[in-house]
Amino acid sequence: MTEIHSDGGPLPHVPDDFTIEQFILDGQHPVKPQWYDLRPVMIEEATGRAIGSDELRARVHGLANALKIRWNIGHDDVACIFSPNHVDYVVALWAVQKLGGIVSTANPTYTAEDLVYQLQLIKARILIVHPWVLPVALEAARTCGIPPDQIILLEPVAGSPYSNIQELVKFGLGQTQQFAPLRLSPGGAKKKLAFLSFSSGTTGKPKAVMVTHYGIICNLVQIGGYLKLNDESVPTERKMYRPGSVSLAVVPFYHAYGMHMLLFGSMVLQSTIVVSPKFSLERMLQSIQQYRVTHLCIVPPQVLLLCKSPLVKNYDLSSVYFLMCGGAPLSAELQEQLVRTLPNCIIGQGYGMTEISTGVTFIPHDRQVDASGSAGLMLPGLIARVVRPDGSLAGYDEPGELHLHTPSRSIGYLNNPTATAETYYDGWIRTGDEVLITPRKEIFVIDRLKELIKVRGFQVAPSELEGHLLDHPAVADVCVVGIPDDFSGELPFAFVVLAPNAQTDSKEKEKDLEAWKTNLKEMLMKHVSDHKTPYKRLAGVEFVDAIPKNPSGKLLRRVLRDRAREMVSRG
Ligand code: AMP
Repeated sequence: MTEIHSDGGPLPHVPDDFTIEQFILDGQHPVKPQWYDLRPVMIEEATGRAIGSDELRARVHGLANALKIRWNIGHDDVACIFSPNHVDYVVALWAVQKLGGIVSTANPTYTAEDLVYQLQLIKARILIVHPWVLPVALEAARTCGIPPDQIILLEPVAGSPYSNIQELVKFGLGQTQQFAPLRLSPGGAKKKLAFLSFSSGTTGKPKAVMVTHYGIICNLVQIGGYLKLNDESVPTERKMYRPGSVSLAVVPFYHAYGMHMLLFGSMVLQSTIVVSPKFSLERMLQSIQQYRVTHLCIVPPQVLLLCKSPLVKNYDLSSVYFLMCGGAPLSAELQEQLVRTLPNCIIGQGYGMTEISTGVTFIPHDRQVDASGSAGLMLPGLIARVVRPDGSLAGYDEPGELHLHTPSRSIGYLNNPTATAETYYDGWIRTGDEVLITPRKEIFVIDRLKELIKVRGFQVAPSELEGHLLDHPAVADVCVVGIPDDFSGELPFAFVVLAPNAQTDSKEKEKDLEAWKTNLKEMLMKHVSDHKTPYKRLAGVEFVDAIPKNPSGKLLRRVLRDRAREMVSRG
């Protein structure tokens, strides 16, 4: 067996001289549906305010002008957006990109310490922040030496000394244009960075993935090409997107799934986006009913809530006809329950990865309901290798590590040639996922071979937590692995070798060994929860005499992961 090519039809032409904003807003793309431009682009969930494409264009223009005049933002300057979902999120990012700048989005649940790591790596010039998370941003900005006048609020706050987007848009629109919008020469979009997105890849700490304008545009063309929206041989009721569709954005825009698939994808597919800043099941159910939502792109814990909560029966969800679950694996059992919760709905999984920018698969066309555990069909233009442990290539229906070749791929990790060489080679990307591919080019994700832990779809890099735990004087060595959890998918769990001083200096230990151990475990868990965002918190700690390593000192993570899984299954 050699390589496996997608059956999704030929990849339509991908323009290589457009920015993402030009591609989406100017509508000059090969996959645009025939009903183009008949709806608001976004709706603010709380107020119902609708924003059309003209208003969006004007806001982007006004803000870009203000960013140029007030901060002289230009080519390759980096702006960090630290905010929950907001209708001006896309305004902020396109204004920066219009000036040739690069955007890096940060998880709004981050602690100051988490944010400092990102800001220092990307060398951010300005910080665009939602008022809800301003105190964290200020603390991080102080540590990184970002002056307060380089902080911009996404929303006005009465009496605040900081500039805000509302005021800047007005100011920018009132001035003559002082900037030349970014124009790319043929092939230019393949090199021009649009985003520095964070991912830990197959190993090590989070890294800044260099995502190009072309990579994103290409993925949008792949999805649009796959969906065949203008193909009249496909009956309307089998089309996954139809005129008047409405998507609910409950997945965060800071993550590739929320930004590329949901925000940009919905815009290209002409689905109005209801922008929801904060997820709660009840709020989601209310919005589905209020806005007659047709499309849900969600993560497995949200599926679990939909399937299990008694609240669901109080709402009319009959408008929903498409549900995609992505970001992490969804079990076949849960998928089956979902079918009972939302009958008459096209249901399935999408599989993607930040480094691919972003989508790899999509729900099969010919299956109304998919409860097989399948992660979907390969998108057009993709080639896969399924690599056995000995390096040879597996055939259909045989497990192995998935390597992908796609024109949408990102171009490496910023300032990190070693990590780049581990994941990127000759136009290919190692996904670190164990899969099998069926003869109809359907991918089933079997396991994760890479270190990465996914908690509710969010990335947790074990080495980040290991580094942090090693800073604690009681810890001599440590290994963090993921343990299964019904709600979150996985949770981080630490195996710790205690430092000699932690073992000897305690009278308490002699009196009551178990109480002493429990105290120490709680102390280490607190050491993480005091400094890290809630989803990185440890579910537990286990003391061991040694961390298993191979003769060359490489940590045998698998051994401990299996041990942790066994402990969980024993209760
Ligand atoms: P991220 O870059 O944060 O999107 O994480 C990408 C990783 O999430 C993949 O390499 C997989 O390990 C995991 N993942 C995403 N979607 C799925 C899915 N449908 N099934 C199983 N794992 C998934």
